[in-house]
Amino acid sequence: MEDLSDVDDVQFLDTTLRDGEQAPGVSLSPEEKARIARRLDAADVDVIEAGSACTGPGERETISRVTDLDIDATVTSFCRGLERDIDLALDCGVDGINLVVPASDRHVEGKVGTSREENVETTVDLVEYAKEHDLWVEVIGEDGSRADLDYLEELLGAALDAGADRICFADTVGHATPDRAVEAVSRLSELGPVSTHTHDDLGLAVTNALASLAAGADMVHGTVNGIGERAGNVALEEVAIALDHGYGVETMELTEVYELAKLVANTTGIPLPPNKAVVGENAFTHESGIHTDGTLKDDAMYEPYPPEKVGRERRLALGKHAGRAGVAAALDEHDIEVSEEELDEVFRRVKEIGDRGKRVTDADLLTIAEDVSGDDRERRVELADLTTVAGGGTPTASIRLTVDGEEREEAETGSGPVDAALNAVQAALGGVADTHLESYHVDAITGGTDAVVTVEVEMSRGDRTVTVTASDSDITRASVRAMVDAIDRLVADEGETVVADD
Ligand SMILES: [Zn+2]
Repeated sequence: MEDLSDVDDVQFLDTTLRDGEQAPGVSLSPEEKARIARRLDAADVDVIEAGSACTGPGERETISRVTDLDIDATVTSFCRGLERDIDLALDCGVDGINLVVPASDRHVEGKVGTSREENVETTVDLVEYAKEHDLWVEVIGEDGSRADLDYLEELLGAALDAGADRICFADTVGHATPDRAVEAVSRLSELGPVSTHTHDDLGLAVTNALASLAAGADMVHGTVNGIGERAGNVALEEVAIALDHGYGVETMELTEVYELAKLVANTTGIPLPPNKAVVGENAFTHESGIHTDGTLKDDAMYEPYPPEKVGRERRLALGKHAGRAGVAAALDEHDIEVSEEELDEVFRRVKEIGDRGKRVTDADLLTIAEDVSGDDRERRVELADLTTVAGGGTPTASIRLTVDGEEREEAETGSGPVDAALNAVQAALGGVADTHLESYHVDAITGGTDAVVTVEVEMSRGDRTVTVTASDSDITRASVRAMVDAIDRLVADEGETVVADD
């Protein structure tokens, strides 16, 4: 076993567009795959497995979209052990193939219905065929972690002898423990360049990827956010940060990973778990008083590495565990000055909301501060009336707002009533078009169709961001109220005209 700090030139193969897309319920359009491929290339991923050409004409069109992009990464297609699959991949103009052949007896006999000997012969023929067509070839021994190691060695050794560029240790069902990965990869890496393909069924995907590298592998297969079949593949961003932080080994462009994570979450519809390493909402958020206080004294007090390293920012959240220093820092962020006694009272009320199990939003904090300091703020933007028409035709919403004492009315359409209403708000406030909706969440507080929903919006204007929640039994009304309140907060304390004359 090598010390990982001595490992150099670790390459990444991203299979978000193939194994990742095999996650239940995920289907990406050609445009979406192209967008993700471009970002993967910008993040310096070495190989992009763009799909499986054998899936059908739609998938082939999608793979062709990716191969048509002017990107540096090697673009490949997944191929089963059939000459036809290789021909279909060639039709898509790929640079290479990931040729998957059975390795365990369960797959050799039970799935493909062949024998160990015949399987080796077929593999050799297919590698020679692919190399004749100038393809970069990686041979994956499927279910390798449950294969007889002697046979795995024979099969993949024959593939290398036939001209394959590299072979891959595949923990297809996430069965391996690190010692098993080390044993297999150590033996395979004696034969030639080895990749490692790990799944997270035992929660060991990252560990097994690192163990494989220590045992001699030099390429890691993985996906953005770790999406994939069942419990998913190894998350590339986690391998990347572990190698960088722990061993000083550089792989992909770390500052790109957060944008990539959000893009993949949005296009696949698989949300990021809040506690996810590197890219989860809470990964750099501190709420507890002790941690906030420590972080304010020294950024590194409760963080292994700074958020900027992965393209993110630190957040201090207020809630049940908030401390006085955290509340003071949050007020300071909104340029609000309070006396020591007033701070005590704001702090007490923040804890009170937190104790009720609620997160304290910026709007909550600002309202409390105004109340405590007796600073009566005049609202500049207020909701006067909202009507929506949905069902049957195009969803339409009309809205009446009072802006600096003047009424403004607008009607807009949208993909649904909420979308239509939010469009109407934005149209009515044409002059403050520089506010941006950063995020939008809906939570049902109670079950059932009469549930009260809470909508939380995060909006920004320049370098200021506010979060506001609103609850209502009507989701459209809750959304609009939250958005209007957020805009009102963002334009507060400014003498300028809110709405430009039109
Ligand atoms: Zn896989």
